[in-house]
Amino acid sequence: MKNQDLVDYLKECGVCLFCQLRYLKARGNEYQNKQEYFEKVNVLYEEDSGCIEYAPTNKKKRRNVCPTCLDLFSDDFRDQLLLSISSTDIGKYDCDGIVIAMSIPIILQLRQLSMWYALIDKFGDNVSLDRTPDVSLKEAIKLILNPTICEKLKKSYDINNGLMVTINLSHSQEEEGITRLEKLNNIVNPRKRGEKYEKISRSLIERKYTPARVSSELFKEIFDVPPLISNEGLKFDSISLLGPSVYVAGRYRKISRKLSHTPWVLNGERVMDDSIEEIINRNIANYFCSDPKKVNFMSSGREDVDVRCLGAGRPFVLEIPNALQSSLNSEKARQMEDNIDKSQKVSVRDIQMVKREDLSHIKMGEEHKRKCYRALCQIGSVATIDMLRKLDLQQGFEIQQKTPIRVLHRRPLHTRPRTVYSLKASVCQQNKCLIILDIVTQAGTYIKELVHGEFGRTIPSVASLLGQPIDIVALDVMEIDLDWPPSISV
Ligand SMILES: [Zn+2]
Repeated sequence: MKNQDLVDYLKECGVCLFCQLRYLKARGNEYQNKQEYFEKVNVLYEEDSGCIEYAPTNKKKRRNVCPTCLDLFSDDFRDQLLLSISSTDIGKYDCDGIVIAMSIPIILQLRQLSMWYALIDKFGDNVSLDRTPDVSLKEAIKLILNPTICEKLKKSYDINNGLMVTINLSHSQEEEGITRLEKLNNIVNPRKRGEKYEKISRSLIERKYTPARVSSELFKEIFDVPPLISNEGLKFDSISLLGPSVYVAGRYRKISRKLSHTPWVLNGERVMDDSIEEIINRNIANYFCSDPKKVNFMSSGREDVDVRCLGAGRPFVLEIPNALQSSLNSEKARQMEDNIDKSQKVSVRDIQMVKREDLSHIKMGEEHKRKCYRALCQIGSVATIDMLRKLDLQQGFEIQQKTPIRVLHRRPLHTRPRTVYSLKASVCQQNKCLIILDIVTQAGTYIKELVHGEFGRTIPSVASLLGQPIDIVALDVMEIDLDWPPSISV
């Protein structure tokens, strides 16, 4: 089969120049300079190729709608596509890269199939029965449309972090095409009794419909071969945009003893007005996206409502989907920190953007980390030197801790071994019945229970070491053993 004969026949069928190139198996940027490629494969180049109708009034050539791509690759379509993309909210996204996902109607696939049968009729054994004779539409979209769209929109193609532009296309003959395909499917794949009917899909066509599997006679009974020239091209159903996910990390200090970690709701009513998650979210997430409710707040552990977190603070990260902004300058970051400080409940530092892979810092190794606490505790009498000595355990010790009763509604009942790395006690100068405990423990240790013992559910406990009851009045987290995110010096 000579290339020239192939192109002559395609032209006869009304096939556009780009599709002619597809059937000549052009690759990569060979679509960018059509004339050069035609000459390379010894085919006469004709600019107006595929124009077979004449407008009656001005006798000028009028291009028909290409029967194999339904004008997917035409200049008009591309211009309309660019106009439609520009009229979306794309301008709101501060994103250098895009990814294009195009959903094409099934009728386009059927038309490729029909042309395949036509080429077999025309060129016989020169055309394979099980390998498609053209560069697929999906591949051609990548090679032809994507570079043009990116160039016109002045964006790069970025499959990992780009703004996802999903374009749904339709055609007026789609329904009719599917009805015919169902008819054919009933003959080719008759349903056995009780068997579920396989839904018509693109993959079904790709898997089961080739000239090797379905005879030409049968196909022609139901479909036109070659595909007829259509009066209408493709239509845009919808264009939707999805920004990339971005990740913003920092460290928070919890200054209030009346603040929950996440919104605290009991029987449909809020127990507390605010939470750490909400304060941080509304000051950071609003800048990045239009729907802060979809933002996921993660931190390296958490405190109880009445526990403060001081020192360098606790690392956290926000996962923000469909982000409008993909960068954050230091001025803006410091402004966010100042705004959070104004809450007087939480203070945040080191706000910065991080990569998805950095999330492992928050998620992994939690159990092996050390945490430093300071607890103000009350005993029934004045503290003595002997008591302080009993609680001076720099070398540390092991405990067995049952899940505290207060968290049993959300955690399973287990007895866990935990390490207390060190314990040190001092007397409060203002009130000698108060002891200050500095405790370094393995992450995941329940400190309140470690102190009072919870009726022997934590063994040993500070109470059992002391040989008398002791209760926590106030607790602070002093340090979290996680050197992330990196500190930002101002
Ligand atoms: Zn075409």
